[in-house]
Amino acid sequence: MKIICIGRNYADHAKEMKAEVPTAPVFFMKPDTAILRDGYDFYFPDFTQDLHYECELVVRIDKVGKNISEKFAHKYYSDITLGIDFTARDLQQQCKEKGLPWEIAKSFEHSAPISQKFISVENLDLNNLTFELKKNSETVQIGHTSDMLFTIDKIIAYISQFMTLKKGDLIFTGTPAGVGPVQIGDVLEGFLEGTKMYEFKVK
Ligand code: MG
Repeated sequence: MKIICIGRNYADHAKEMKAEVPTAPVFFMKPDTAILRDGYDFYFPDFTQDLHYECELVVRIDKVGKNISEKFAHKYYSDITLGIDFTARDLQQQCKEKGLPWEIAKSFEHSAPISQKFISVENLDLNNLTFELKKNSETVQIGHTSDMLFTIDKIIAYISQFMTLKKGDLIFTGTPAGVGPVQIGDVLEGFLEGTKMYEFKVK
């Protein structure tokens, strides 16, 4: 199983990161050991002083595919959920400055907390979903999938040009504006269409 994450898929987040709005999806990967299931605590890692949350809609692939066309991409998934793309922002900044890959900032243990619940896309309008992250009961991020630069189907078509997608693979589809730091003691709660999807404590 692999985890593929899209960067800069919301123009307002690209702007807050002072990054260019991309003309094609930007992606990077996390190993399966990055997964943290809802119900387990997240332990703040020693190697960063600036850990950021990024709340993201996550798609689960349920069929093997390669070179999938955008038109048929919807046949390759049936469930979505909500996760966090934890980012060691200080390390990421150092990597960017040196032109190095981002893995130490993005792919560490439990950097991909995810809900246990998956929601069927059958009766959903995927281009019109709202999700929300609360930190210590205060809303810090609100995302609307209508603001995505690249739709789920476009993302799948793009990624599958480069690698085979397999059943169980997860795609984190990017974060809206409002990313920020977490500290020990914080509680992060994610909501998709008003339904609580996860609650993670930072220890
Ligand atoms: Mg992200």
